[in-house]
Amino acid sequence: MRAHVWSVPLRTRFRGITVREGMLLETEHGFGEWSPFLEYSPQVAAPWLRCALEAASGDWPAPVRDRVPVNVTVPAVDAERAHAITRAGGCATAKVKVADPGQTLADDLARVEAVRDALGPRGRLRIDVNGLWSVDEAVAAIPLLDRAAGGLEYVEQPCAEVEELALVRRRVDVPIAADESIRRAADPYRVRDLEAADVAVLKVQPLGGVRACLRIAEEIGLPVVVSSALESSVGIAAGVALAAALPELDHACGLATVQLLTHDVAVEPLLPVDGFLPVPGPSGVVVDREALTRLAAAPDRVAHWQARLAEVAALLPDLRDRLGQDLS
Ligand SMILES: [Mg+2]
Repeated sequence: MRAHVWSVPLRTRFRGITVREGMLLETEHGFGEWSPFLEYSPQVAAPWLRCALEAASGDWPAPVRDRVPVNVTVPAVDAERAHAITRAGGCATAKVKVADPGQTLADDLARVEAVRDALGPRGRLRIDVNGLWSVDEAVAAIPLLDRAAGGLEYVEQPCAEVEELALVRRRVDVPIAADESIRRAADPYRVRDLEAADVAVLKVQPLGGVRACLRIAEEIGLPVVVSSALESSVGIAAGVALAAALPELDHACGLATVQLLTHDVAVEPLLPVDGFLPVPGPSGVVVDREALTRLAAAPDRVAHWQARLAEVAALLPDLRDRLGQDLS
């Protein structure tokens, strides 16, 4: 197995970062992406590594569809830019970030209105709060945003705690989606047990890979939206493999995020065409070796990722054989 560390600037600051870094693991079967965010502990980063190894070993389930509908993602930008991003996205669904620190509800209302204008009346519009509201803030803000949006498809993670989601869900008419309450929870099934959400957002890296997510989807008994963790096309391909293998897919997925990066590692980046991503074959996307060289991280960052990989691999003794000793 070989490891390649890449570093790519983002077009717009997103979840507080301006540069995305990650590692591609390469076997004779293909590539897998390991890109846990820098602040994550080895324990949190461990399922991300399972996902990368599953991808690198070409071990994805067979797809049941050949393309996957996706949403355009609108960061917490001003209304004018939000309008332009939505238009340029060319998707029938938009996901709008709201409640960004330093912004007001008025900013969010203006952004959501602009996105609806760009999307047209038939498009679906969802918002993502990333757990930043209290229950009372959520109950006050959701009806206003629902009105500004001309109807919301759902509100993703309005509050941080799963108990809070359950309370909000009982007090508003807009469907609730759970994201952090699934991927960061000790028990992802609390969402189901507390009837805290109408939609489950699944991300392949934090949840340990495509097959692990298929099991969760089956057990959790909710419609699933597959979302990205801001990966390169190699990581996005794993999300697409999950979305392509789900028995039911009623909602657009949050996988059109390669466009948030200024560069990509694939020969043909996984960008949407008419609101859909193509489903790559079992060995994922074709990696552009020249791009890998061009986007290679600085030596100190490579050393950081190598050390991190060793630390996380030590937590996964069952994967030691697949990781091999000859990581270079
Ligand atoms: Mg989210």
